[in-house]
Amino acid sequence: MEVHANQIEKRSWVEIDMTQLMNNYINYKKCLKRDAEIMAVIKADAYGHGDVQVARLLSDLGVNMFAVSNIDEAVCLREAGIKGEILILGYSSPYYARTLHDQDLTQAIVSEQYAEQLANTGIDIKCQFAIDTGMNRIGIDADKPEECEQTIRNYSKRLHINGIFTHLCVADGSSESDIAFTHDQLNKFKDVADRVSDLNLPYIHCCNSAAGLFYLDDTPFYETIGNIVRLGIILYGLKPDVTNELPQGIEPALSWKSVISMVKQVHPGETIGYGRTFKADKEITVATVATGYADGLNRHLSNSGNVLINGHKAPILGRICMDQTLVDVTDIPSVKMGTHAIILGKSGNLSYNADDMACDLNTIGYEILCQLSKRVQRFYISTYSIL
Ligand SMILES: *Cc1c(COP(=O)(O)O)cnc(C)c1O
Repeated sequence: MEVHANQIEKRSWVEIDMTQLMNNYINYKKCLKRDAEIMAVIKADAYGHGDVQVARLLSDLGVNMFAVSNIDEAVCLREAGIKGEILILGYSSPYYARTLHDQDLTQAIVSEQYAEQLANTGIDIKCQFAIDTGMNRIGIDADKPEECEQTIRNYSKRLHINGIFTHLCVADGSSESDIAFTHDQLNKFKDVADRVSDLNLPYIHCCNSAAGLFYLDDTPFYETIGNIVRLGIILYGLKPDVTNELPQGIEPALSWKSVISMVKQVHPGETIGYGRTFKADKEITVATVATGYADGLNRHLSNSGNVLINGHKAPILGRICMDQTLVDVTDIPSVKMGTHAIILGKSGNLSYNADDMACDLNTIGYEILCQLSKRVQRFYISTYSIL
């Protein structure tokens, strides 16, 4: 739903700034070391941002390659009218071969055994071979390049193979060993790509968000290993790793907001919430925020996290409940029923984004975004004019 921010009167909601998403895409492209096509990774509901909305925005900006995690996500995009390549990065049961074909989807081939099963369906399916260059997750083994070559050649006759790709597992790392490992992965991938170059596969790709910034350059070496970046996290304005620097103008596009349902005084000696894990040692003012762990607010932030209210930090008191969270607003002026609480986003001069929350929870921004639950309604705020 597209609305003005000041019209939203909800319990717990997300605002997605479409202009910021657009700027993230444009600014990222500017920083690529050379001209590369973007395959937008919009798996997991575009990292919580809404896959159809993000795909439509990017289609308007000229993107015509998308990647998702599974066939349901892919079909959902087709049903919403999204055109272009849609690559399914993970396993789909061969049972769905007909759907893959009819919806014009591109299936990643996770293993030779899987290729055989798909080929045995007799249905002409667009596929790309995953090449395992060291992550040991999916793909045929690049340590045996001759076998890789033979496998790709064999199945090119039985399936519609239109590409190969690999996935880098430490492209966001800056240590010497991380860089060496990534170079090794790229070399292995290049070897396989060179061996099948006569097949003229249109899609050869190895870069995720981080690699697009750090490994794509105009040296002859890299030029020969594809010119597509599978852009995920940076599109949404977050960092692959907290140590990474993001280019100018790339910022989180998502804010998570909630409302205060009541404010009360709590006296010394009283306790707060389930398990009575917080005890007031003085008179405090407590506000009830209408968001809980069922919305995706991680319960490990109990007694440790903050929300932002009227430009101040309001510490979370006691355990986060399923639908509600109690916060200390003793030192925050004019908090009342209906006041907004910012769980992720900006308030006054303060800002707290999914990467900040991830640091507090010893995880990654990706997980924070993906945990935002379905019942947190998404609103699209936009000042750009393509839509
Ligand atoms: C998720 C994923 C990406 C995107 O990674 P980011 O770090 O979000 O850019 C790229 N490629 C594959 C295979 C993935 O699974």
